[in-house]
Amino acid sequence: MANSLGSKGPAGLSRRLLLGGAAASVGLASAAAAAQAAPAPAGLKKPRSRTHVVLLGTAGGPAINPRSDREGIASALVVGDRYYLVDAGHGVTKQLSRAKLGGWDKPGSGPLDSLRAVFLTHLHSDHVTDLSDLFSPGLFSGLGAADLPIKLYGPGNRGQLPPVFGSGAAPEVVAPDNPTPGTVEMWESLVRAFAMDFNDRARDNRQPTPGQTVEAHDIELPPHLTADPNGNPHPEMDPVFVYEDDRVRVSAILVQHAPVFPAFAYRFDTEDGSAVFSGDTGPSDNLVKLAQGADVLVHEALSRQFLEEVYPEPRSAVQEAVLQHLLGAHTTIEDVGPLAERAGAKTLVLNHLVPAHGPDQQWKRARNGYSGTLVVGRDLDVINVG
Ligand SMILES: [Zn+2]
Repeated sequence: MANSLGSKGPAGLSRRLLLGGAAASVGLASAAAAAQAAPAPAGLKKPRSRTHVVLLGTAGGPAINPRSDREGIASALVVGDRYYLVDAGHGVTKQLSRAKLGGWDKPGSGPLDSLRAVFLTHLHSDHVTDLSDLFSPGLFSGLGAADLPIKLYGPGNRGQLPPVFGSGAAPEVVAPDNPTPGTVEMWESLVRAFAMDFNDRARDNRQPTPGQTVEAHDIELPPHLTADPNGNPHPEMDPVFVYEDDRVRVSAILVQHAPVFPAFAYRFDTEDGSAVFSGDTGPSDNLVKLAQGADVLVHEALSRQFLEEVYPEPRSAVQEAVLQHLLGAHTTIEDVGPLAERAGAKTLVLNHLVPAHGPDQQWKRARNGYSGTLVVGRDLDVINVG
């Protein structure tokens, strides 16, 4: 299914916003925007500006970790009375309530009544595992009261299997008729898997059907960028336009998460400022390009020291494969600060922390080489944009 690549923005969005990210800056919120700024709901201490990031889950990798209370990876960008999700990891629906988003306290509704769009960085399961929770049980948490359909954007079909690491026989291919589905195909498969439930909710509870609630799109890229999904590093490119409404303009760029491809970072430009979400990535020049002048850069981080303790030498073939994947496809604490500095990001927020149970102190080393404000992300942290 095609996306709206290259389309013009709606008339309601200002020229300054349409001109792009770097121009949108702190302190330029309109009077109307200021009027919509809301104090934190009861129970949350920090005042929220009209536009803010909420970290819903900050665990890197699978969130089943008895040593960590971090939920799976997911973030929200809130603009006034509407919000947008980046990824939908373990616990996202529960975290939307805990973050008191949307109509979280409205009888008969719920936090999903204000969700507008979901942007998937890539299709590793820890980033998408609770999509079905959003759109099936979510019917009873305000989804039916949202401005439907919710837009769902993410990578398209990889096109071919990734190479097998190391020597030895290749493993059995899962679903050989379509082993690398993209976002649209994944969503259609989820609908089929939960068809009994969706049909029951529609017929017995008169709830909307998936065809009414979700409109899925694969992010289209120029053919020369997708010709070799096994290419490493990722191809250099300029950001591509993904989505726009009267609150946000969203663009995306390929990042370094080989062998996963495509993997995206997203930039949201608003009247109040800009926020960029790295997704899973090793050090990426594309990401630095996308994040130029961003008010908030939410970037993943990984502890090399932790990995070397978990996988001491000598390593088995499996251990070596996992170690090399993690080091090549993620960004170490030492590398993330200089990347944010090159981007000129004003605030660097660390999320997708590997390990999720690491002591807070180690993440503060990301200050090295970075002159802006560092936030070591915790679940439900609010970071104001503008
Ligand atoms: Zn990943």
